[in-house]
Amino acid sequence: MSGQRFDCLQCGRCCRRWRVALRPGEPERLASWRERAAPGAATAVERCGGHPYVAHDASGDCVFLDGARNLCRLEEMAGAAAKPLGCRIYPFNLVTLFPGVLSCGLRFDCPAVRQNQGRELGAWKSQILDYAAAFAPGAAGIPVRLLAGLEPLTIRQLADGFRSYLAESAERVSPGAQLVVLWRATARYAGLGADFLNDRETLGEVLPKLWSKFEPDPAEERRCVPGAGSRALFRLWLAHYWRRDQEWAGDGWRTRCRRAWTLVRLMTGGGAPALLSPEHPDVALNRAGLFRLEPPVQPLPGAAGPADAETWECWRRWLMGRLETWQWFGPACYGTDVWAGWRALWQASLLMAATARAAAAAAGRPQVTAADVQYAVGAIDHAFGRSPLLQWSLLRRLDAWFAGPRFERLVAALNWK
Ligand code: SF4
Repeated sequence: MSGQRFDCLQCGRCCRRWRVALRPGEPERLASWRERAAPGAATAVERCGGHPYVAHDASGDCVFLDGARNLCRLEEMAGAAAKPLGCRIYPFNLVTLFPGVLSCGLRFDCPAVRQNQGRELGAWKSQILDYAAAFAPGAAGIPVRLLAGLEPLTIRQLADGFRSYLAESAERVSPGAQLVVLWRATARYAGLGADFLNDRETLGEVLPKLWSKFEPDPAEERRCVPGAGSRALFRLWLAHYWRRDQEWAGDGWRTRCRRAWTLVRLMTGGGAPALLSPEHPDVALNRAGLFRLEPPVQPLPGAAGPADAETWECWRRWLMGRLETWQWFGPACYGTDVWAGWRALWQASLLMAATARAAAAAAGRPQVTAADVQYAVGAIDHAFGRSPLLQWSLLRRLDAWFAGPRFERLVAALNWK
């Protein structure tokens, strides 16, 4: 990922907040270290939905974490290789694209990645190669049908076109208007068909001329608040990206009832995202101003303000990274095809904008800041392409409901400038 840096800040966040899924052989290895490296813990492995995970104690910390020093006792005693592969790899995200070809992205739920702190990724090359060797030898990669008839070089050309547009227009066009352009371009390209697009020489001549045609006319549409039904569905959609079921221990009926009641409160706007996880803003959604018309009522799109490019830098870096590493479809996004994956990427961006707005409202800020955007990118990226919940057919229907003209209306309604 060009321009991306990483060095662990040892904040301990990944050892506290998230469960690490274990691979075959790892539960037994962890169990053998429990008495020495996790003193006082009743177990080193816990199961959720039938899958084994590293156990956490009552406070939420990994049982192997020395919380006072934010260090892993297992690593201290037995070396990094004793840790589960999921712990060692984090925050790198490996995905098999084609047999023998892995892409390496970074997870933006890590603060060091969001802040772009540390060494350039090239410094991690030998470790990444070690992880790759252990990760998925022989994995098949993206099934051909998910390429939707596009040749890999065509996909590369289109993705590079999206990235070039994002970079070139960052100082000129507001982030919301950029997203509308990406949405329209995706619909237009899909309509051109694979035969036309695979003629890459023609595509190379045509693409640069198309971008300005996708930019919406500032006078073309004014904001309007979605109806109550759409607002409720939008909040439900957001809530599923915010859900952190691993923090709601237990599958009993009480837990299920509590989850259902929380989702109802969020849907109706009376609940706060913090009900789903303490990492989220503690402000009732109907007070978060997601669809506030005043002030000011803005036409769509606004030109980028001087601070916009900086405020939304983390979002652009996330988007560019996903495009560069091909981590937006196939194995990186629930087996969707290349077009559905692009739409999912733009929709996730929209959800980031709403999440950033909620974070600003919770802090009493009238405007979204770079800190709100960083939080929002981490919160949505944590689930995007990873949360099993987002594969549910209900959620897929919400993706479809907020596609088409509703997508642009939502960008306008959020007043994303
Ligand atoms: S969340 Fe990121 S910065 Fe924090 S300990 Fe984990 S890898 Fe390091």
